[in-house]
Amino acid sequence: MLTGRLAVVTGAGSGIGRAVCRVFASEGATIIAADTNEKGMEETMSMIKDTGDHQTYPCDVSNSASVNDLVSKIKERYSSAPHVAVNSAGITRDRTMMKLTEEDFDKVIDVNLKGTWLLNRAVGKAMLADKVPGSIVNISSLVGKTGNIGQTNYAASKAGVIGLTKSMAKEMGKFNIRVNAVLPGFIETPMTDVVPEHLMQMTKLLIPLGRIGNPEEIANTCAFLASDKSSYITGATIEVTGGLFM
Ligand code: NAP
Repeated sequence: MLTGRLAVVTGAGSGIGRAVCRVFASEGATIIAADTNEKGMEETMSMIKDTGDHQTYPCDVSNSASVNDLVSKIKERYSSAPHVAVNSAGITRDRTMMKLTEEDFDKVIDVNLKGTWLLNRAVGKAMLADKVPGSIVNISSLVGKTGNIGQTNYAASKAGVIGLTKSMAKEMGKFNIRVNAVLPGFIETPMTDVVPEHLMQMTKLLIPLGRIGNPEEIANTCAFLASDKSSYITGATIEVTGGLFM
């Protein structure tokens, strides 16, 4: 489904980003894995290394120099802009509003929202310069639609990603660059490992499919959005939630 596609994936060292790398590589894409977690990235690479000419690059998505450097290195190494970008880098710093520090508000916005914006901008510019028909997939969250106790910072960042995605889709459509957002529900990754067991059990009761999702189920949706099978889809928000809060 993705043969011949060059795909940059942030947050590639863990969870959903790692699953995206694995699914995309199995579909024939060449992967550029980017993350601040170098050990995690190397682990991801060891899982896919036999499937193509993949590369890892350390990158802090909240730092514009780091993001621009990543895209320059991709162009140098592969003589092309990426055809696909999946923005999966993300963090949580959960506290209720009255206890949340300004620093933790800023940190989450910087990584989740500004980081997504920086990569969309850098990859979008490179796609335009090389006249590459592109697909950008931004990982938002169901919480960006519903809000959540203890996540004013995170929910705002993920709602922001939806607004960013729709605006970018409107600006880039005429260049055949599609931009979509995926809204995962509860997915089993290191990010949700810290959620107390009783809350996980309560959440499961609310999920029509009756279970937590796995990262591959998000990655499969990303693969669809990255491929020509979604050629008439842009500016969409796709919920992959087992039906939670539909
Ligand atoms: P994860 O397992 O914690 O993976 C996130 C990865 O992003 C980690 O490798 C992390 O490195 C990296 N990262 C953190 N800050 C970064 C930065 N500034 N620059 C580059 N990489 C950075 O989380 P996940 O569950 O896979 O989440 C992936 C995305 O899905 C996130 O955007 C998250 O908000 C979203 N999401 C997840 C769920 C869920 O239930 N899991 C639900 C909805 C949305 P470190 O390990 O060093 O921090």
